[in-house]
Amino acid sequence: MLEIRNLTTTYGPVKALDSVDITVERGAITAVLGANGAGKTSLLRTVSGLVRPAAGTVTLDGEDITSAPVESMVRRGMAHVPEGRGVIAELTVEENLRLGMMGAPTNGDASREAPVRTLKDAYGLFPALGDRSNQQAHTLSGGERQMLVIARALLAQPTLLLLDEPSLGLAPRIVAQIFDLVRGLVADSGLTVLLVEQNATSALSIAHTGIVLNLGRVVVTESAEALRRDETLRHSYLGF
Ligand code: ATP
Repeated sequence: MLEIRNLTTTYGPVKALDSVDITVERGAITAVLGANGAGKTSLLRTVSGLVRPAAGTVTLDGEDITSAPVESMVRRGMAHVPEGRGVIAELTVEENLRLGMMGAPTNGDASREAPVRTLKDAYGLFPALGDRSNQQAHTLSGGERQMLVIARALLAQPTLLLLDEPSLGLAPRIVAQIFDLVRGLVADSGLTVLLVEQNATSALSIAHTGIVLNLGRVVVTESAEALRRDETLRHSYLGF
């Protein structure tokens, strides 16, 4: 569904991505792992058009979107959940969710396998948000905020969800809950997920494919199962 070829992104003299090749299969979870500064966030920002690459191409469903305007990405079926859980703090949970709905296709493209189309769907998936629908977003816990940004992204009815470090700073129990939910969504709806994570253990527990980035380069592309099993690879690149 998503083909990333020879992608190079630079910030002045810094090469954040260096000739990266990644294929994201439809209906699967592709996890991109790597240490701080490996280039994971730059990868998602380049794919979603927030940053322009110095070289290379990004192709979505056969269409070259490398130079497509960032505001066209939602219409193309891409939703990006950036690191940091950016909710609008003074708005209520429900108002934040309605912002996500503004990105949904107006013609109600029924061919899209969107698992979350209405607020009711969102609250069904994340009951904690339903309980707090009238609370201002700043009153939420970190886990609830993460749920809110994912729910908001899903309400735009994407076919490809880009998730940047959803586990960051969350208790293991909450991480497990959120990752289970993502796994369920993909299994039930055919959604495609490109997940960027430092938490390799959790990411590999739900991913189909694991990719390791190191200093902007892809150093491993394996099935998640092979990566989980291969002690040498895990020790060398993932530190567990
Ligand atoms: P983290 O988990 O810390 O976000 P990451 O794997 O997502 O790390 P990136 O944030 O993509 O990595 O950073 C890759 C490299 O690019 C790093 O060397 C970083 O310092 C550099 N970098 C990232 N953003 C910028 C920027 N806006 N200006 C200059 N350098 C940047």
